[in-house]
Amino acid sequence: MTGFAIPRAIGRGLLDLLLPPRCGGCGVDVSADAALCLDCWRAVTFIAEPMCEVCGVPFEIQPLGAAVCGDCLADPPAFDRARSAVLYDDATRPMILSFKHGDRLTLAPLFAAWMRAAGADLLDTADLIAPVPLHRWRMISRKYNQSAILIRTLAGISGVPVVDSLLVRTRHTPSQGRKTGAQRAANVRGAFALWNNCGGNAEVIEGRRVLLVDDVLTTGATVSACTRVLKRGGARAVDVLTLARVA
Ligand SMILES: [Zn+2]
Ligand SMILES: [Zn+2]
Repeated sequence: MTGFAIPRAIGRGLLDLLLPPRCGGCGVDVSADAALCLDCWRAVTFIAEPMCEVCGVPFEIQPLGAAVCGDCLADPPAFDRARSAVLYDDATRPMILSFKHGDRLTLAPLFAAWMRAAGADLLDTADLIAPVPLHRWRMISRKYNQSAILIRTLAGISGVPVVDSLLVRTRHTPSQGRKTGAQRAANVRGAFALWNNCGGNAEVIEGRRVLLVDDVLTTGATVSACTRVLKRGGARAVDVLTLARVA
C-alpha cells in the first residue's frame, strides 16, 4: 500500500514530462489549456460572409444580386445548404491530419466550436445530426474514432441530437483523392444506404431537417450521394456542415 504513493504535484510533473501540451498545428510547446500556438491560429482562414448562400463557397466581394455562386446556379447541389468553418490549406491540413490520426484530441473542443459558429444557422434549424459514414476516418483501423468524438462534442455544445449509423456504406469505395469531380461522383454513386437493420429510420428522418457532418468538403460528391439517400428516405431538407473545405 505504501511506498508507491507519489505526491500529487510530482505526479502532475511526471505527466507533463510524458505528455507536454503541444500545438496541434506545428507541435511547439503551448500552455496547458491551448490547443494551438498563436502563429498557427493566425494562419487559419475562417470562412465568413460574403459567401454563396447555397454551397457556402466564400466570395471575394459582396455580390450585388442573389448570393448564389455560378456553380450552384448552373447545377444546383442535392443538399440545401453547406457551410464550413475553415479553408483546408497549408495551415489547417496538418492540424486536421494530426487530429484524425489521433494524436491531437485536444483539438476536438476547438474544432467543434469553430463548426458551431460557422454552422449556427444550420444547427439552429436541424432536427438531427447524421455523420457521413466513415471512409477516410476509418473506425476499425483506429484506436479512437476521432470523427465521432468531434461530432459528439458538436452535438453537446449545440444541443442537436446525433443519430449514429443513420447512413451506412454499402460497399468499399476507393479513396477520393486524385479523382476529378465526375470520377468522385461515380465513385460514390450507390455507395450509401439507410441503415434499416433495426427499423425505424423512416420515422427518424420522415419530414425532418437533417444535418450531415463531415471533416472536409472537397467536390461535395460524398455529401450529395448521402443527401439523395436521405431525401429518398423522406428527409424534408438536408444541410451539410464540415470542419474545412477545399478552396
Ligand atoms: Zn503552432
Ligand atoms: Zn454555391
